[in-house]
Amino acid sequence: MKKGIAASKGYAIGTIVIKEDTEIIIDTTKITDVEGEISNLNVALEASKDQLAKIRDKAEKELGADKAAVFSSHIMLLDDPELSSAIIDKIQNDKDNAVKATSEIINMYVGIFGSMDDEYMRERASDIKDVGNRVLANLTNSSTGEVDDLAENSIVVAHDLTPSDTAQLDKSKVVAFLTNIGGRTSHSAIMARTLEIPAIVGLNDITTSVTNGDTVIVDGSEGIVIINPNEATIEEYKAKQAEFEKEKERLKSLINVRTITKAGKRTEVCGNIGKAEDVNQVLENGGEGIGLFRTEFLYMDRNEMPTEEEQFNSYKYVAEKMGEKPVVIRTLDIGGDKVLPYLPLPEEMNPFLGYRAIRLCLDKKDIFKIQLRALLRASAYGNIKIMFPMIASLSEFLAAKEVLQECMEELRSEGKDFNENLEVGMMVEIPSAAVCADELAKYVDFFSIGTNDLIQYTLAADRMNEKVSYLYDPMHPAVLRLIKMTIDGAHSQGKWCGMCGEAAGDETVIPTLVQYGLDEFSMSASSILRAKELIMNQDV
Ligand code: PEP
Ligand code: MG
Repeated sequence: MKKGIAASKGYAIGTIVIKEDTEIIIDTTKITDVEGEISNLNVALEASKDQLAKIRDKAEKELGADKAAVFSSHIMLLDDPELSSAIIDKIQNDKDNAVKATSEIINMYVGIFGSMDDEYMRERASDIKDVGNRVLANLTNSSTGEVDDLAENSIVVAHDLTPSDTAQLDKSKVVAFLTNIGGRTSHSAIMARTLEIPAIVGLNDITTSVTNGDTVIVDGSEGIVIINPNEATIEEYKAKQAEFEKEKERLKSLINVRTITKAGKRTEVCGNIGKAEDVNQVLENGGEGIGLFRTEFLYMDRNEMPTEEEQFNSYKYVAEKMGEKPVVIRTLDIGGDKVLPYLPLPEEMNPFLGYRAIRLCLDKKDIFKIQLRALLRASAYGNIKIMFPMIASLSEFLAAKEVLQECMEELRSEGKDFNENLEVGMMVEIPSAAVCADELAKYVDFFSIGTNDLIQYTLAADRMNEKVSYLYDPMHPAVLRLIKMTIDGAHSQGKWCGMCGEAAGDETVIPTLVQYGLDEFSMSASSILRAKELIMNQDV
C-alpha cells in the first residue's frame, strides 16, 4: 500500500499503464560508419512521420480537423529536405552520430526561430523542438511519452502530468491517475477534479513501485493506492465505490435549491471551469454561477493564440448557458506551472514569483486586448464579470482597468455591443493584496480569494511540492487572518467577496468561511452539492 496526497475523490480499480518520461542521453562518440548512421536517421524520420500520421488521424476523429492540423504541420517539418540535409551534413563532415547531429541541428533551429522578431516564426520554435524530441526518441528507441491506445479501466501512472496531459486523458478509458510529484492544488489535480477522475499525487516513487499490467485500487478520497490487492480487498472497495455513487445520488435533491444558511444568509455556490463545455457539469451539479473560468486553458493544446472570435464564442457560450446567473471570467493567468508551447517565456529561477498572469498581460498588451475585447463583446449575452489575476498592488489593477477602458472605447467606435456596467474585480491571492484589501476595495467591484496561491505565498510553501505539503494548510492562522481581512475589507466598502481557490470546496474549511461572512464559494463541479448541504447546515 502507498499513501500520497488525495487530489480527487472517488474509487477506481484498474490496470496500470506507465507513462514514460523521455530522457535522452546524447552520446558524443564519433562514428566511422557514415552510411549506417544516415540510414538510422532515415528510419527514425520515417517512424516519426508514421506516428504523427496516426496521431493526426485520431485527433481528427476525436477533436476535429482544426486541432489535428498541427500534426500535419509537424509531418511537413520532417519532410523538409533542408532539415534532413543539415543533419546528414553533420554526420558526414563532423562524424557525429545521428543522435548528436540531430540534437545539435534541432537546437540550432530552435535558437534561430526562438529569437526571430516575427511572433509567428518565434512560435514555430516549440514545434521544431517537439518534432526533434520525437525523432531523438525514435533514434534511441526511447518512449515518445504518449499513452495511446489505452484499454478500458486504465490507471495512468507518471512522474508528473502537465495540465494539458491531464486535459487530454480519455475519460472513457482512464479511471484514475497517480503521480510521483504534485500537490492538491497543482493544476493536474484541479483538472482531475473537473474530469471527476480519482487521482493521487505526491506519491514519490509510484512509477517504480508498480509495473505495467499490475492491478491497483485507487482510493482518491484517502490518497491510498493498494497494489495487486486480494479478492476480499477488491470486494471491500467495490462496496465503497457503490456507497460513493449512492451518496452522489442522494445529494442530487439539492440541485435546484438556493443556498441559504440556517441564519438566513444567502450564499452562492458556484463552479470553477477550465473550458466552455465544463459549464454543463456545473449546472448538472447545482452550481449557482461560475465563480472562476480559468481562460488559460483556451490557450493550451494548440499551436497559436486563440483569436478574438474564438474566445468570444467560448465566453458567449458560457454566458448564454448560465442565463442570469453570474459568470466570473478571469483574464489569462499563464506562467507558473501553466506554459504555452507557442509563447516561449524566459527561464526563471522562481516562475511562481516571476513573469506571469497580469504582469505578463500588462507587458504584452496586444495579447491582453484581444481577450478583453472578446470578453466585453460576450458580456452583451449574459451576466459576465471580469476578474484580473495575481494583483499585487493597486497600480496593477488600475493599469489593467485602463486597458479595459481602451477596449471599451474601441468597441464603442466600432458600434459593437457590450455591457457598459459589467463588474470588474480582482483575485486576492498575494498576501499584499489581502493586507491592503480595505484600500483596494474602494476601486474594485468584488474580490475572489485564490487560496491556492495565497497559501503558498503566505507560508512560503510551493503548492506543487509534496515535500512541503505539511506546511500547506488553509487553516493556518496566518492564512485565516488574511482571508478574514479580505472579506472584511470588501464589506467595509459594500463590495462582495468570493473564494475560488480549492479551500472554498474543502469541507474542513467551509464552516469557518461561512462564519467570516464569505458571500460566494466557487469550486470543482463535483464538490458543489456537498458544499451546498454543509453551508445550509451552518447556524450563522
Ligand atoms: C488560486 O490561486 O487560488 C486560484 C484559484 O488560481 P490558480 O489555481 O489558477 O492559480
Ligand atoms: Mg492563482
